[in-house]
Amino acid sequence: MDIAELVRECVACPLAWRGSGVPGEWVGGEQGDTMVIGEAPGAVEQAEGRPFVGDSGQLLRSLLADCGLTAYYLTNIVKHRPNAKSGKQQPPDEVATRACSPWLRAELASVHPFKIILLGKVAAKWFTPGLMFSSMSDSVGKNPSVVSIVNSEFTHAEYPGVRFLVLYHPAYFLHNRTAPWVNRQVNDWKRAVRNFLGAEIPYYPIEKVECATHR
Ligand code: URA
Repeated sequence: MDIAELVRECVACPLAWRGSGVPGEWVGGEQGDTMVIGEAPGAVEQAEGRPFVGDSGQLLRSLLADCGLTAYYLTNIVKHRPNAKSGKQQPPDEVATRACSPWLRAELASVHPFKIILLGKVAAKWFTPGLMFSSMSDSVGKNPSVVSIVNSEFTHAEYPGVRFLVLYHPAYFLHNRTAPWVNRQVNDWKRAVRNFLGAEIPYYPIEKVECATHR
C-alpha cells in the first residue's frame, strides 16, 4: 500500500472520528524538488480528501503559481481536521501532531525535497521544536526572547542539503483581508518565495581577522 492509502486509513489519533485521513498530493507533476507543508485540513479538505482545496488553499495555489512554482508536493503536518472550540477550528494539538509525525517523515523520505516551504507556526514548530515564537510577525518588538522567523530561510542539521523557508499561512491573509497592510505582506511573501526559488543561500566564509591588540 502506498503512503496516501495508509494515511486515508489511519486511526492513530483522537481526530480519526473525522473520517479518512487527508494525504499530501503532487501539484503539477511528480518531478518537483519542493515540498510545501501546511497545518491540517479544514472542512473542505476533510470533505474532499485533498489538501488545500478550500479558500486558503486556492489562494495558496494561485500565489505559488504567480511566483513560478509549478511542480511541488503539498501536504499538512496533521492529516485530519482538528477539533473546533466555540465554533472555531483549533490548531492541531500535541497528541495529533505526534501521532501524525510518521506520515510526514514517510512523505519526506519518499519526496526527498531539496526545498521545503513551511506555512505558519505549526509547520515551522515541527522542524524547530526548541525555538519559541508566539506570533510570527510582531513578536520581536514585544518579547526579545521570542524570535520572528517569518520570511526567513534556514538549513537544518538533520536534513542535510535541504533549504527551508518559513511563510505566513495563507489563511492569515484571508483573516486580515481588509487590513491596510495586507497587500504589502502578500508582496513580501511573494518576494520571499521568488528569492527562495531563484537564489542559493549565500555562503560567507569566516576569515580569520588579525587584531593588533588581541594577538
Ligand atoms: N489549511 C491547511 O493548513 N491545510 C489545508 O489543507 C487547508 C487549510
